[in-house]
Amino acid sequence: MLPPAIADYLETHRDENLRLLMELLRFPTLSTGPDEPTRACAAWLAGKLRAMGFSVELAPAGAGKPNVIASAVVDPSKPTLLIYEHYDVQPPEPLNEWLSDPFEPVIRDGAIYARGSDDDKGPLAAYLACLGAYKAVTGTFPVNIKCFFEGQEEIGSPGLEGFFLEHADELAADAAVISDSGFFADDVPSITYALRGLVYAEITVTGPSADIHSGSHGGAITNPVNALARILTAAQDADGRVTLPGFYDDILPPAPEELADWARLPHDDAAYAASMGVGALGGGERGLPSLQRRWSRPTFDANGIVGGYTGPGAKTIIPAKASAKVSMRLVPNQRPEKIADSLRRFLADNTPPGVQVSLQFHSNSRPVLLATDSPAMTAAKDALADVFGRKPVMIRGGGSVPVTELIQRILGLDSVLLGFGLPGNNVHSPNEHFPLDQYHRAALCLATFLANFAQGGGHGR
Ligand SMILES: [Zn+2]
Repeated sequence: MLPPAIADYLETHRDENLRLLMELLRFPTLSTGPDEPTRACAAWLAGKLRAMGFSVELAPAGAGKPNVIASAVVDPSKPTLLIYEHYDVQPPEPLNEWLSDPFEPVIRDGAIYARGSDDDKGPLAAYLACLGAYKAVTGTFPVNIKCFFEGQEEIGSPGLEGFFLEHADELAADAAVISDSGFFADDVPSITYALRGLVYAEITVTGPSADIHSGSHGGAITNPVNALARILTAAQDADGRVTLPGFYDDILPPAPEELADWARLPHDDAAYAASMGVGALGGGERGLPSLQRRWSRPTFDANGIVGGYTGPGAKTIIPAKASAKVSMRLVPNQRPEKIADSLRRFLADNTPPGVQVSLQFHSNSRPVLLATDSPAMTAAKDALADVFGRKPVMIRGGGSVPVTELIQRILGLDSVLLGFGLPGNNVHSPNEHFPLDQYHRAALCLATFLANFAQGGGHGR
């Protein structure tokens, strides 16, 4: 249970906590951009944490943007909670679609508009607000706290695995919490307990040594664009099943109770299709409910394709090369290395004569499945129920948060994904926003979670 004085403090300091979030949003911390704003933001975060009594270190993964690592030991006999968030953001482009400057937060219709307001600075600021309330009211925290605020999550956390291996002692904890996730629907508090992994590859098909005349040579020379299209098409059969050899071999199917829970979620395929601007849900494997296709089945999707002549009018060529970027989303217990190998074998078997195929891998991450019965998980479920007035639903996510898997594999902790994002908040899109009420309730919920966790779980369910 949350001490009433903490709740009162958060209620009477809403303006201050909103200013905190606005300051954080003003740093244009693009992980793809220059270092300076990121360094300035890391220093700002370090300042806020030091003022609350944390010892803080700024440490980049490899040559990357700094990570903020902070630690406050209040009592070595108490458990330690590791908080992960990221303070970098996606590029704001296309800028002309924003109704206001992405890095000058504005409040409209009860929501704060800025890049990063939902993903992930809103939740990060809610942690600062929550910790600040404890510090101001009690002079301490209810448990030992470690913070890891990452500076380049949005570009796939390069170098983070090595960083975790190096800093494993420093990051050691009894439980971990991450709020880089969201509600299933606006009024449906949710905890995410599984995420898909990713293999991201670029397939390049090369043919003749230069673009050549499609009249003189068409019919004799293999066309790389045609060949690439055939390869991509062959990767799925008519029922939407991926044809890569052994692709489905290692999958751990969801438990029957999970499938039953998902079927009860407030989800409507037609409404979902309409919200995406499509008339039907034709992706993935025929005959499976769409939530299963998004959460517990793997995918093969071309993300982009280039090749040949794409300028105005006609240019009659057989192009010299073509390439496609491909993402494969993986589910428990698939392994990226095995899937990468499976793609290699598929390409070897499906490359027509007269062209060469080369393969480059850009990133990969393992899928993750988290325990749902830990004391921290119970503390989070009860906190959501207390603050949002409704027992949370347990959901999976189709995307990847690679750090979750690293925390599990390297630190030995199953994170609690206690997120507050809402489906309509335009994450990664123009006009990203976060409702102010959701922000303040997030801070209250995190404070309640901390109190529950310190008391050894939740209400003892
Ligand atoms: Zn994020």
